[in-house]
Amino acid sequence: KDSLTGLLNRRGFDDAAQRLIVQARCSRKPVSALMCDIDMFKQVNDTQGHEGGDAAIRHVADIVAKALESVPDSVVGRQGGDEFAILVVGRSIRELAQFADDIRMAIESAPMTWRDEALFLTISLGVAISASEDADITSLLSRADQALYEAKKRGRNRVQVTAAADAA
Ligand code: GH3
Ligand code: MG
Repeated sequence: KDSLTGLLNRRGFDDAAQRLIVQARCSRKPVSALMCDIDMFKQVNDTQGHEGGDAAIRHVADIVAKALESVPDSVVGRQGGDEFAILVVGRSIRELAQFADDIRMAIESAPMTWRDEALFLTISLGVAISASEDADITSLLSRADQALYEAKKRGRNRVQVTAAADAA
């Protein structure tokens, strides 16, 4: 576990994700990955100090974890820094894009309270889907990461989707 957020850490996430992937392969369900990263997080650290930054990471982690509660066959972990990874089994790319946008809007519309001030945060998300046959955690996460990079480049506070050619 990650001590700051109570989410799984990278290693815990990889283990849980691997188990889900094996299960998905058996039932021939698609596996999708979401990578989320807080926008301009360095500014939070710079203006609110490291403690404020930590509180922001916890705030985002809580909202993401809450959103995942109602999604079966899913797992979320903190990848390190201000980045979170999510794996979901059995959802279409359309469902995942909607889910990602729901998380994005939940964070945008729920400012954190820090030292009696409301602090607005946004996140960017990259979504990748894979057919169960070729589901491999490393390549799937790296494609979600590329989509996240694209979301940042296109202006942040947005969802970017990439689909595997054979899974669209
Ligand atoms: P971008 O929108 O492109 O993501 O910009 P950014 O400022 O958020 O950039 P980036 O995601 O690279 O910033 C990560 C920063 O997070 C760098 C590091 O100083 C800070 N950081 C990493 N781990 C922690 C932590 O546990 N607590 C705090 N407060 N800061 C952390
Ligand atoms: Mg960031």
